[in-house]
Amino acid sequence: MTTTTQRISLIGAPTDVGAGRRGASMGPEALRVAGLRQSLMRLRRAVLDRGNVSGPINPESPRLDGYRHLPEVTAWCGAVRDAVYAALIDGDFPILMGGDHSLAVGSLAAVARYCWERDLVPTVLWLDAHSDFNVAESSPTGNLHGMPVSIITGYGPPELTQMGPEAPIVPAERIVQIGIRSVDQVEKELVVESGMIVYDMRQIDEITMRVAVERALDYLAKRGGHLHVTFDVDFLDPSIAPGVPTTVPGGPTYREAQLCMEMIHDSGLMKSLDILELNPAFDDRNRTAELAVELVESLFGEQILARAGGPTTKYTL
Ligand code: MG
Ligand code: MG
Repeated sequence: MTTTTQRISLIGAPTDVGAGRRGASMGPEALRVAGLRQSLMRLRRAVLDRGNVSGPINPESPRLDGYRHLPEVTAWCGAVRDAVYAALIDGDFPILMGGDHSLAVGSLAAVARYCWERDLVPTVLWLDAHSDFNVAESSPTGNLHGMPVSIITGYGPPELTQMGPEAPIVPAERIVQIGIRSVDQVEKELVVESGMIVYDMRQIDEITMRVAVERALDYLAKRGGHLHVTFDVDFLDPSIAPGVPTTVPGGPTYREAQLCMEMIHDSGLMKSLDILELNPAFDDRNRTAELAVELVESLFGEQILARAGGPTTKYTL
């Protein structure tokens, strides 16, 4: 269980080398400007901002052998892995501020190594509009931010699939996705074949966000002891979160997103977090960054009412 005494480490990874449209490199600073550190401190958490990791510039090169910017993505993921691992070793709760979603390979490689050394089992809750399960052959673009799930489950370039202590970094049966509403044609088959649990927006419409998140957390709680939450900001409906490069309509509303985050907090399972794909170039006066900060507050226990005795909600179907 995450304790309120555990310090939070903020780690910035200002890059967009894995994305098709540029600007996610400005994400870490937008989250700082929106007051992420201050919000967590207001929740009585100690916060250490470790600054930004560094890596190669975006060369804006064309696709090569199936991928765009593979050497650059590999370099950034290596730097992220080392920084997130250092925070975990220090006993901190790491929050990776991206940056595009290819960086999740680095943060999950760190989580996997940390868990592997301690006989813990990592699990992943993937909040996203996209399944991010493309491989070179299925990807229309070669952009690696559309491939991190296939990579961590063992399919892709070896320099990335072998970034953890073993491959796969995390097997598909320990990953649950929520919010999905955009999957490329061949990618659909890969997702089904993988056996990964996916709550797409159709299911969320039918069973409600509450039931989807409850089932996801129940499933993951039975499979591991370290839950990593990776939050692609395009998970949110673009009407409330325009600041992403790849908006997809029909996403969670403000309240659905808040409920999701509150339930993750109440579960006590979350041990590390990514906030990725925030792109200030597409934002409106930093409102998406401010919303992301609000949602992180809920992930760390902000409640509408100050209830004594901690989480009060007992979910029953
Ligand atoms: Mg996405
Ligand atoms: Mg994504």
